[in-house]
Amino acid sequence: MTTPLHDDAAEVSFATVHPARLEPIIGSDRLQRLEHVAEEMRALLDGREIVNVNSTAAGGGVAEMLYAILGYARALGIGTRWRVIGGDPEFFAVTKRVHNGLYGAPGDGGPLGRTERLAYERTIARNAGPLLESVAATDVVVLHDPQTAGLAPLLRGRVAKVIWRCHVGYEGESEWSDRAWAFIRPFVEAADAFVFSRPTFAPPWIDPERLAIVAPSIDPFTAKNEEIADDIVTSTMTAVGLVRPPHGTAPWVGLPLETVDLVTEGELPALETPLVTQVSRWDRLKDMEGVLEAFAHHVDPRLGAHLVLAGPSVRGVTDDPEGPEVFAETHAAWEALDGRLRRRVHLAAIGMSDLAANARVVNALQRHASVVVQKSLAEGFGLTVAEAMWKRRPVVASAVGGIVDQIADGREGLLVGPNDVEAAGEAIDRLLADPALRTTLGEAARAKVVERFLADRHLHEYAQLLKTLLEE
Ligand code: UDP
Repeated sequence: MTTPLHDDAAEVSFATVHPARLEPIIGSDRLQRLEHVAEEMRALLDGREIVNVNSTAAGGGVAEMLYAILGYARALGIGTRWRVIGGDPEFFAVTKRVHNGLYGAPGDGGPLGRTERLAYERTIARNAGPLLESVAATDVVVLHDPQTAGLAPLLRGRVAKVIWRCHVGYEGESEWSDRAWAFIRPFVEAADAFVFSRPTFAPPWIDPERLAIVAPSIDPFTAKNEEIADDIVTSTMTAVGLVRPPHGTAPWVGLPLETVDLVTEGELPALETPLVTQVSRWDRLKDMEGVLEAFAHHVDPRLGAHLVLAGPSVRGVTDDPEGPEVFAETHAAWEALDGRLRRRVHLAAIGMSDLAANARVVNALQRHASVVVQKSLAEGFGLTVAEAMWKRRPVVASAVGGIVDQIADGREGLLVGPNDVEAAGEAIDRLLADPALRTTLGEAARAKVVERFLADRHLHEYAQLLKTLLEE
């Protein structure tokens, strides 16, 4: 979420890719089923397009997920487009507050009153014009997350259907979530249908007939997830300075050292040093500090592991106002570590100006890691979990939100209480000490992703929703 802001709504381009390339992974039966569903969809849509709208084309799970499915949909003859809305810092401060609220968290604790609503509506109104000009009255528009929710009433009646897809959520009740829902409800109520990643995220006032549950998916062929040989993993890690070059120099893999801004002290980890990593946006709910604490106080130093906390670079204008602050807090926590520990912990800010480079670093880092952590305090889905599982990594993650739908505890990874730093450290420790367990969990994790979290399942579920909506 660290892209330059768009002043106005803009079209995002994405590659058209035929799902036949998934066949070696999903098999011919699943591919045929998908092609059959696509045929039904083409007939039903009859030339209409599905237009997705979100607030960023780069960074964060929603953009990642849209790239993973839209190219396949288009190759299957389903007209799909993707637009992003723009906004000023005030708008993104408000939407981040709502985002945190929907996770049951206070965020910056600032107000969500009339002034904020007006600021929100101002930006929404600015985006509505170009969006309306770009869609046909027969199109279906899918609005993603709180940033675009305000468009629902403006689109209603001017396009065929409006769907609001909410990627965030929280099981419990809190004043913060009540407040966020009160803010967003008048807008989203105008939608014809709602999509949540899990049933417990949907507020009770949503008509079950208009509710669909659709979990995200990952694409095995993106630069983030594609298979890469071990020597490329090593070269990438050394090229960007995350691992000490085994022979003194890093081989050239087309990634300049500046791709990653590293906060580090002393020697870098050697190639054989076991690495623990969490890759996340710098967002308090991802609890980078909690990972640092778990590693520092509950992982046996005799195991010799290093920790890399990696996230997008927070330089420049971003649509995530908390990024720089949370990075600074994590940096301060790193500085406060005792010297010997500090030398085993590294903060990596991965550049966002070249998204392919960013993805290649994340791919290599997740593959190189002995253990991948996702110690979120709340989580809509957690694509980083699916990405690591796809790479056969053993994952230690919080038992919250969509993570619970991905990992069966003890079989496909290890789950811990979201606030239990000690349990997180112990789980990391257990995995570092047990290579056989790492392999078993990693293999089961991979199988789970193949079964549940690829594009064919995702597109099927969307098709079901569209069928219900358009046949009304
Ligand atoms: N990500 C990335 N570069 C980074 C940090 C994160 O590409 O430096 C990606 C990560 O690999 C994942 C997405 O951002 O694909 C985060 O999605 P997730 O669902 O885990 O969390 P969100 O950011 O949507 O809350």
